[in-house]
Amino acid sequence: MESMTQQGHPEEIDAPRWHQLKEALKTRLSQQAFATWVTQMTCLEDDGNTLTIGLPDMFSLDWVNNHYRDVVEEELRKIGNAALELKLSESEPHTAVSEAPSERPQTSATPSSAPPLPRSATPRSQRPGRPETSSHFEPVSSVLNTRYTFSTFVTGPSNQLASAAAQSVADRPGSNFNPLFIFGRVGLGKTHLLQAIGHAILKKNPSARVQYQTTEQFINDVVQGIRFERMDEIRRAYRAYDVLLMDDIQFIAGKVTCQEEFFHTFNVLHDARKQVVVTSDKLPHEIKDLEERVKTRFQWGLIVDLQPPELETRIAIVRKKADTDGIALTDEVAMFIAQSVRSNVRELEGCLIRVSAFANLTNHPISIALARDVLKDVIPGKGQPLTCEAIVKAVAQHFDLKPSDLRSTKRGRAIALPRQIAMYLCRKHAGASYPEIGQALGGKDHTTALNAFNRIRERLDAPEIRRHVEEVERVLLD
Ligand code: ADP
Ligand code: MG
Repeated sequence: MESMTQQGHPEEIDAPRWHQLKEALKTRLSQQAFATWVTQMTCLEDDGNTLTIGLPDMFSLDWVNNHYRDVVEEELRKIGNAALELKLSESEPHTAVSEAPSERPQTSATPSSAPPLPRSATPRSQRPGRPETSSHFEPVSSVLNTRYTFSTFVTGPSNQLASAAAQSVADRPGSNFNPLFIFGRVGLGKTHLLQAIGHAILKKNPSARVQYQTTEQFINDVVQGIRFERMDEIRRAYRAYDVLLMDDIQFIAGKVTCQEEFFHTFNVLHDARKQVVVTSDKLPHEIKDLEERVKTRFQWGLIVDLQPPELETRIAIVRKKADTDGIALTDEVAMFIAQSVRSNVRELEGCLIRVSAFANLTNHPISIALARDVLKDVIPGKGQPLTCEAIVKAVAQHFDLKPSDLRSTKRGRAIALPRQIAMYLCRKHAGASYPEIGQALGGKDHTTALNAFNRIRERLDAPEIRRHVEEVERVLLD
């Protein structure tokens, strides 16, 4: 257990060589490339033989590996570390401790000048010359990511309840839903919401003792506490929080002593009307080897879930992220990216970054063609354009018509409007040329297809048109 918790999610370390390398890369790379890739990197380990650099997701890892590895290795050699091997690996973004002072923990956690805490604790008997009273335990708090706030969290039907409950907890900690249990699969925003609660509480009350903590750190603290006979201190520290935000509680499965400690800590906090929020990728009853009484505690409060976002929410997330990062995106491309990844917001963001970086590096505007090209390696089988045939069929179905009606020469509005919508969608989602669209709709002229596309695009503000288009898109894309 110890080795898993100590190595499972490594945190950024303060390695001089990494700082040097970063400086070198700043000069070597364009500002854009540096901002996109290097600022995401964290140094996970430097053991003298290997320098391990973490990247927050597979996309970035893959990208840096393919495009920047040589440069990084070259710079490493230049600063006199030819023998040092470079290792790139995926790291959990929320556990990496940022170096920027503005991103230092705003929680009640360890001030940066405090002595290293239990991870480096040695048994008292082995600490000569250090007065026992000066050693005092304080759990290490992970940084609150400045981007994970309520204002950057996009809500939609898939996460409405979870988001409202989190808001409510942030407004009145300890009084409504206690504990709040946020459940959802990986990459759906659990950590984001959990940290948003922390930010919001601290904003209103900067002196609140808010502890954001990964469950691994908690487990680690308990392990160390037992090993060095410091459990009393650990308990005292944990029980002094006003708000305890525990991320990924499913990792406590099977760890009997940790569950016991959590149970008692939870009870003390709960009795004192202190807020506890936990996240998990499993429901309480699905967490293997979770003690019955801990399960019961979780069920005291409110359990809310995060579902994969539907198309509209995914588009809004892509747009918001693009706005925040200053990426210019047309509606069509936002839709295309949102269509490519359906069940993991982190991957969705990764796709956007990838498309934007590629456009930047190759000096091309972001277009559907470019996005398709970039994403085809990332998401095999997805991100493929729809066929005109599939679109014509879906439109016909939506209007209760037959595809052959749309391909016919009939001109009544009941058929002309659906036909125009089909033409518009063929251009937008199949990327077909106007002659191809004309062909797909029974051999119409390409100018007919062009006019139809423009006509529908101009009328998208009309509620009736918009509703038809969106309903067909939902069927086609979600
Ligand atoms: P989890 O903890 O559930 O694995 P995270 O909270 O780490 O997921 O979310 C993964 C990424 O997706 C983060 O960058 C987060 O900001 C983003 N994200 C997830 N859901 C949303 C949302 N509804 N609005 C905006 N960003 C989101
Ligand atoms: Mg998480």
